[in-house]
Amino acid sequence: MIKRNLLLTLALFLGAAQAFSQTNYKTENIVLITLDGMRWQEVFKGADSLLVDDTGMIKTAGSLLEDFWDENSQIRREKLLPFFWNTLAKEGQIYGNRAYGNFVNNSNSMWFSYPGYNEVLSGFADDERINSNSKINNPNVTFLEYLNQRPEYQGKVMAFGSWDVFPYIVNEERSGVPVNAGFDKAEGNNLTDRELLINRMQDEIRGPWGGVRLDPFTHHYALEAIKKHKPKVLYIAYGETDDWAHGNHYDEYLWSARQTDDYIREIWEMIQSDPQYKDKTTMIITTDHGRGTSKTSWRSHGASIPVAGQIWMAAIGPDTPAGGEMKVEGQWYSARIARTIFTLLGLEYPDEKAGAVIEEMIQ
Ligand SMILES: [Zn+2]
Repeated sequence: MIKRNLLLTLALFLGAAQAFSQTNYKTENIVLITLDGMRWQEVFKGADSLLVDDTGMIKTAGSLLEDFWDENSQIRREKLLPFFWNTLAKEGQIYGNRAYGNFVNNSNSMWFSYPGYNEVLSGFADDERINSNSKINNPNVTFLEYLNQRPEYQGKVMAFGSWDVFPYIVNEERSGVPVNAGFDKAEGNNLTDRELLINRMQDEIRGPWGGVRLDPFTHHYALEAIKKHKPKVLYIAYGETDDWAHGNHYDEYLWSARQTDDYIREIWEMIQSDPQYKDKTTMIITTDHGRGTSKTSWRSHGASIPVAGQIWMAAIGPDTPAGGEMKVEGQWYSARIARTIFTLLGLEYPDEKAGAVIEEMIQ
């Protein structure tokens, strides 16, 4: 009798293990990256002929035109975002080319940063409560916080951002997720030589904006953290594209976009050369909102700017089919990312308000 029960238990256990493995994906780590206010128009069509005129690109020719311009929009977008179009488009997926009826939108109706990031990170729009960019601790729990509550991820979730509102969006205080953002420095007793240098340079190179640091600081802090802390879940929020755009610097906007593309390549190559991450990490890339399309409105976004709720997203990883530039017609929202991340990790998303899993991103 005892033997029989043991066998039965063993059979049940094996059955459960098999059932589990069938819904278990290869993804063990997540890297989420956002580029603030990066338009889908440049992602899919490269430099915009309407805007290159205004910034002196045509007049001064030289490297800007050489670097970014071509009559063919497919070549233009490769010049602007080589990692997107040489790697993501071959091994991953890029959503949001409206020419194919592949639509990605904010589901919030604010079309500016905090509501956009709240939607990506917590999985739903909250127009009632998240309707300003003020430094108010997010009442919503983000997927980062949910993961940090689980023993297997606790202390292995980290966030880096250029904008100093991120500690509030992630609710660093309540969530316990460390957020290095704005002009925060690397902290701790055993800082690496690089971290000490980045700390010093951040003091010396203040950049043009008050609440947003230049992206190289965010990027290099994050790179050091990958090497040093090996986070299982990493969020990096680049900010320059939005601020250059608000300042009407289309040339700087393009330069930043291309630099960020190269940063993403660097992170992906680092991941794919490290046994903890290699072929076990899904990287998702998106933006918090779109922008206008006219010569003046491209600088802005928000509910009063038509089409500023049009966005894009991309993914690459061991569970994501190589769909490339997605041409299937449909409507996606950034509110669907949080649950998709949990599904990739083999977990149920704890908040029913979150958008549905993006089935196409998971095989
Ligand atoms: Zn923004």
